[in-house]
Amino acid sequence: MENVAILGSTGSIGVSSLKVVDSLSERFKIVGLSAGRNLDLLKQQVFKYKPEVVSVEREEEARKLKAELGGKYAPKILCGQDGAEEVSRYPKNDIIISAITGINGLRPTLAAVSSGKRIALANKEAMVAAGSLVQRTAAESGAEIIPVDSEHSGVFQCLAKENSRNVKKVILTASGGPFFRSTREEMKEKTPEEALNHPRWEMGKKVTIDSATLMNKGLELIEARWLFDLKPDQLDILVHPQSVVHSLVELRDGSVLAQLSPTDMKIPIQYALTYPDRNEGLLPSLDLSKIRALEFYNVDMNKFSLVKLARYALEEEGSVSIALNAGNEVVVEAFLKKQVRFTDIFTILEELIGKHEKSKVNSLEDIFAVDREARRMTRNLLNNRI
Ligand code: MG
Repeated sequence: MENVAILGSTGSIGVSSLKVVDSLSERFKIVGLSAGRNLDLLKQQVFKYKPEVVSVEREEEARKLKAELGGKYAPKILCGQDGAEEVSRYPKNDIIISAITGINGLRPTLAAVSSGKRIALANKEAMVAAGSLVQRTAAESGAEIIPVDSEHSGVFQCLAKENSRNVKKVILTASGGPFFRSTREEMKEKTPEEALNHPRWEMGKKVTIDSATLMNKGLELIEARWLFDLKPDQLDILVHPQSVVHSLVELRDGSVLAQLSPTDMKIPIQYALTYPDRNEGLLPSLDLSKIRALEFYNVDMNKFSLVKLARYALEEEGSVSIALNAGNEVVVEAFLKKQVRFTDIFTILEELIGKHEKSKVNSLEDIFAVDREARRMTRNLLNNRI
C-alpha cells in the first residue's frame, strides 16, 4: 500500500483526488487530510477515510472537529499553516497531493518537497512564486515532483521518453475561457457569475476566474518554465476551445507530440499517483469522431494583457512573478466580492507591475516580503477605485 496525504482535500482537486483513490483502494490509502473551513465536507472525509492526521484552517474548527468525532477514533487534529505543514511532513506519507489554492500552498508544498517524497503538484502558485527554491529543495531531498495541472501533466507525459536537449518548444493550450470571443468593452460588464461559467472545465473559483482572464495560462507558463527547466522563448500558448489537446511538445527534428484526453482532472491526478504505471481510468474513452474538429488560435495579447505581463515576469524571474501572483489573488477576490469590474483585474495588475520595484529573491523570507508588499500595493490600487 502507498500512503497518500491530500493538502486541500475539500477543494475541487482534493475531491477528485479522493475519487481516484476510491477507485484504486487496493493500492492507495489516505493517511493525512488538510482543508480550510469547509468543515462539513472534511468531517465526511474524515469519517470515511479515517486518516491519522488532519489539519484545518483555524483553531475553532479544529476544536469543533475534535468534539464531533467524540473519541470514536482520534486522529491527530492540527490547524493553520503549521498544521498543513505537519500533514505534509507526516513521516508515513509516500505521496503528497498538493492542492491548496494560492500562495497559502507554498509552505506546505515546500515541506513536502523537503521530505523527499513524491509530490503530485496541483498548487501552481508555489512554482510561480518559488520555482527556483522548490527545484533546489527537490534536488537536495530527492523529491519527485509530478505535475497535476492538466497542461503540465500533458507535457510531462510527452517528455517521459525524450531527452530534454531534443525539446524545441512547449505549447500549453488554453480553452480561452467564457470571454474568448468578447471584446474588451464587452468584458467590462461581465459579472462573477458569468466569469465562473467556464465552458469546459469544472474547477475552483480562483482558477476559474484566472481562466476567464487567461491569467491562469500566464501562471502556467511560469510554472512550466520551472517544472521542465525551459527558457522563456521555448514556451508558447495556443487557444484551443475544445480542450482535448492539453499540450504539445515540438522536438528538434520537427516532430510534434501531443497529449489528448477527456477534459477531467481525474486523469492527470491518477497519472501523478500511478506514474510510471497506468491503471484503468474512470472515464469513457475519448471519441474524436464526435468532437470532429480541433481548433487552435493565437492569443490576442492586447485583449488578454495578463499573458503579456506573465511573459514579462517569465523573462525577469525573481520578484515580478511573486508580485503578479500576489496582486492577482487580491484583485480576483475583490472581483468575486463585486468590488471591482472584470476589466479592472487587467488594469490594476498592469499598474501594479508598472510600479513594482524588481528585486532578487533567495529565500522564503524574501518571497513572502515581496508577496506582502504587492498585496499592500494592490489593496491601495483597489481602494482608489472602490
Ligand atoms: Mg491548467
